[in-house]
Amino acid sequence: MALDRGTNSAMEPDQQSAQEHINPDGGLLTVGDAMLAIEELWPESLAESWDSVGLVVGRPDREVTKIVLTVDPTEAVIDDALDWGADLIIAHHPLMLKPVNSVSTDHFKGAAVHKLIEGGCALATVHTNGDSAVGGVSDVLADAFGLLNVEPLAKASDGLPEEGVGRVGDLTEATTLGDFAEMVFSILPSIAGGMRVAGDRHGLVRRVAVCGGAGDNLFDQVRASEADVYVTADLRHHPALEAREASVNGRPYLIDVSHFGSEWLWLTPAAAALSNVLADQGFEPEIRVSGVNSDPWDFVLTPGLD
Ligand SMILES: [Zn+2]
Repeated sequence: MALDRGTNSAMEPDQQSAQEHINPDGGLLTVGDAMLAIEELWPESLAESWDSVGLVVGRPDREVTKIVLTVDPTEAVIDDALDWGADLIIAHHPLMLKPVNSVSTDHFKGAAVHKLIEGGCALATVHTNGDSAVGGVSDVLADAFGLLNVEPLAKASDGLPEEGVGRVGDLTEATTLGDFAEMVFSILPSIAGGMRVAGDRHGLVRRVAVCGGAGDNLFDQVRASEADVYVTADLRHHPALEAREASVNGRPYLIDVSHFGSEWLWLTPAAAALSNVLADQGFEPEIRVSGVNSDPWDFVLTPGLD
């Protein structure tokens, strides 16, 4: 399923000659060079201890001319990237967060590894290091919502004060929860599941907390930030219900968005940032954002709002 909105629009590849992939020193861009650029933008030291980031599949000395960014390294994403001739896929989510004992094609993860190797394409992961970094997933959401005075919800233990998980900031003026929710909905890519809101549609919101991806482990920080509304994904029943029970004057209200959608917005600015870093080194690979929708849901039944 292709995305309805924003599909590849910001990073349409230019027609480039092979010569443009060669820097002034005469060197070809390699997977190793690309990994150094990734480290400059999204240092591994910012990744959570439980995470697994970096190069997953590939030879560091292999040439790279085409790079694809994606939220998930699914089979459809890999097929689409290989059809385009990609040499490197940068995925937000790890293909193998938990260790595996086999990469046999009997299992989809092994099949993905084989498909990548046989297709001559490397795979790298930028996960919680991409969340935490300046310009990361939640920064992009905060920017898209128009927030000011933005700071992390939970500061990075090993980073700058502006690095960390989630963000909180202020709208330029108060608006109703209903209007704010509609603005959020209009910004995110179209996915079948839509989004859910808890709270008074007419209640006013100004201070906004946000965490791209699953953020129901951050309610203590959200309450401490005195946010009027919290936008995140994957809100499970118990954490969400307990947050509503513990609310003060109904706040923080909750907006539960698509995990995929909340992170997909980051890909275009991430691609632009990577392009800039590589261009500074004289490399001009073609870089695009995958237009493949990897949100797992296909349709939703609802009693409606009226
Ligand atoms: Zn995620």
